[in-house]
Amino acid sequence: MLTAHLPRTPIAHLPTPLEALPRLSERLGGPEIWIKRDDQTGLAGGGNKTRKLEYLVAAAQQAGARTLVTGGAPQSNHCRQTAAAAARAGLRAVLVLGGHAPNAATGNILLDRLLGAEIVWTGDAARDDVMAATVEREKSAGHQPYLIPYGGSNPIGASGYVAAVEELAGQLEPAGVSGFDYMVFASSSGGTHAGLALGARALDFQTSVLGISVDEPHAVLTERVARLATQTAELLNLEYSFAADDIRANADYLGEGYSIMGAPEMEAIRLFSECEGILLDPVYTGRAAAGMIGLIREGAFSSGERIIFWHTGGAAALFAPQYSERLADFNLAS
Ligand SMILES: *Cc1c(COP(=O)(O)O)cnc(C)c1O
Repeated sequence: MLTAHLPRTPIAHLPTPLEALPRLSERLGGPEIWIKRDDQTGLAGGGNKTRKLEYLVAAAQQAGARTLVTGGAPQSNHCRQTAAAAARAGLRAVLVLGGHAPNAATGNILLDRLLGAEIVWTGDAARDDVMAATVEREKSAGHQPYLIPYGGSNPIGASGYVAAVEELAGQLEPAGVSGFDYMVFASSSGGTHAGLALGARALDFQTSVLGISVDEPHAVLTERVARLATQTAELLNLEYSFAADDIRANADYLGEGYSIMGAPEMEAIRLFSECEGILLDPVYTGRAAAGMIGLIREGAFSSGERIIFWHTGGAAALFAPQYSERLADFNLAS
């Protein structure tokens, strides 16, 4: 294994299933679509952060930490999975969430509470400042904090997605597929994207690793992912380096911005649910699927091509009222 020399705490249910999506493929009338079920990584709702946390928790424990500190948006899936991983490893979790405490704890915020995490709301202060202050406070209190960056996206976390590509490589023959022309997935803090790009290169996959940007312009995202992929290669003693031009991304589906669910996301959520019984989320996978569907309709893929859609999780956010109320009333055009 490419990551064999890194410490790893096994907390995910692996391998996640690789499945064909015949009804969705037929409905969209384009390429053959498959799915990698990283929403089924097993820990408190699952998702892509669990793969990263296997390496991050091990690094924290090796450093003697007793508390994991991280941060994100109020409905952060990363924070919820960090809280679950901490519980599992016998560590404390302190989550720095942006904004003011809502009246009701719904979706991921409810789960954060059930998982025993301490939540620090930033109010109007900058999240970076509150993260730094929280680490200092935890240090002074003797809690031995370990800071996990947003999205778990550093070289240690991204290594989880290098390992994921190796996992996928072992699933191809049993599934009866030779490979995929495209990997499509939601990309934001970049760790998933960097790990997949590096893993695909190291294993010589003939695949276009195409991240659908959730919140960043193309240039910002490709720069970020290239830098992280190069740093991850260094950590894994691999002789690869990446420039922004080596990273494939599409930033045409940003809609009204981060965490704002529009009609394309609602349509994608309904299509995956109705055709395949698979729940996407309103912020990440809904947007990535909307991007994939948009690209299929634009004719970006040819009909003989095969896509693997990495389901990165997030369905807990469906139950936050800003999404659930509008989704309940949304219907597909017939
Ligand atoms: C965090 C997240 C992503 C984005 O992954 P990054 O590695 O941060 O780019 C995608 N989907 C879901 C559901 C997430 O929670």
